[in-house]
Amino acid sequence: MEDCIFCKIASGELDTDLVYEDERVAAFADQNPQAPVHLLLIPKKHIPSMRKLEEKDYELVGHIYRTANQLAEEQGIAEDGFRVVTNCGDDGGQTVYHLHFHLLGGRRLQWPPG
Ligand code: AMP
Ligand code: ZN
Repeated sequence: MEDCIFCKIASGELDTDLVYEDERVAAFADQNPQAPVHLLLIPKKHIPSMRKLEEKDYELVGHIYRTANQLAEEQGIAEDGFRVVTNCGDDGGQTVYHLHFHLLGGRRLQWPPG
């Protein structure tokens, strides 16, 4: 996906500091943070949104959740609590159509979301 900003981050074409990387997943700071800790976790392969997940992708999603737990520990927010969010589609508030998981923490988050 040549025009996808998150594919460019995952491939290294865009020079972005990664807080975590392995062969399948990358994580980096959100450029418009909504909490003291606000990371984005992405699969390196282009999946446009949650609704485009295929059967073979669910193990990868589990791996991303494992990574989110690990990053929450490393960022010091695991104990107090945090939130993992995936916005899906226009009504869900998705603006970048490459699957991503927001990891938010470091303050008391409101519920319900707006
Ligand atoms: P969403 O609205 O759920 O699709 O989230 C997209 C998120 O990506 C927003 O929170 C943006 O601030 C963030 N974002 C967009 N471009 C970049 C970028 N180049 N680096 C870091 N975060 C980005
Ligand atoms: Zn992409």
